[in-house]
Amino acid sequence: MCAARKLPAKQKRAIELLLRLKRLYPDATCSLDYETPMQLMVATILSAQCTDMRVNLVTPELFRRFPDAESMAGADLSEIETLVKSTGFYRNKAKNIQAACRMIMTEFGGNVPQVMEELLKLPGVARKTANVVLANAFGINMGVTVDTHVKRLSYRLGLTKHTDPIRIERDLMKLLPQPDWENWSIRVIYHGRAVCMARKPQCDRCDLADLCPSATLAEKPLAIPEPDDLAITPEHPTPAIDPPATNLNLVGK
Ligand code: SF4
Repeated sequence: MCAARKLPAKQKRAIELLLRLKRLYPDATCSLDYETPMQLMVATILSAQCTDMRVNLVTPELFRRFPDAESMAGADLSEIETLVKSTGFYRNKAKNIQAACRMIMTEFGGNVPQVMEELLKLPGVARKTANVVLANAFGINMGVTVDTHVKRLSYRLGLTKHTDPIRIERDLMKLLPQPDWENWSIRVIYHGRAVCMARKPQCDRCDLADLCPSATLAEKPLAIPEPDDLAITPEHPTPAIDPPATNLNLVGK
């Protein structure tokens, strides 16, 4: 059977998965603590190769000392490094955070841009961070956030055959309604933490099992190779993403 004839069934299943995830996690929200778009951008940069919980332990003091792009841009770099050290890769992260804030000051009038192409110019910001900031700070769904959980679960759920975040995002954008792109990511992240863990997925108590082609493979390794999961600078290359094939509005269902 050709791929084109398979697509509707796959899309139907993706939408059923989305609706079920919405019912399972009705109140799911972004797990990072922030008060402004700049703070969300910084927290998301810090979350690479680190848990959101750890980031949330670090950011209160970081944002107390440097609450906005102007203060972060003028900070002593070594002080930022010290404050973010426990999130790992702290030298790169601190350097990118400061460079991004300086660019926000010099090129964007002190405001985090609300346009994907402009966000991608900021040091340390690739599509994952840009998608998180656009969706959660500005309510703009321009792509699907692909972190380690979205990558793993989308693969196990049979919605992509790829392990590269850009290709996974492209596949998901074709399958899911645009207004739900961030809803998908946030809820998949919840499910990845609670049930479909990397090493020991709990298929026997998973509410998605009847829709998941990996549920019957419980005896076999389910983890996918993760060679390039979350590179720091840049997160991953950012080729053009095609516009979505569908725009079914399921928000709130
Ligand atoms: S059935 Fe298993 S592999 Fe599939 S989503 Fe649930 S826990 Fe993950």
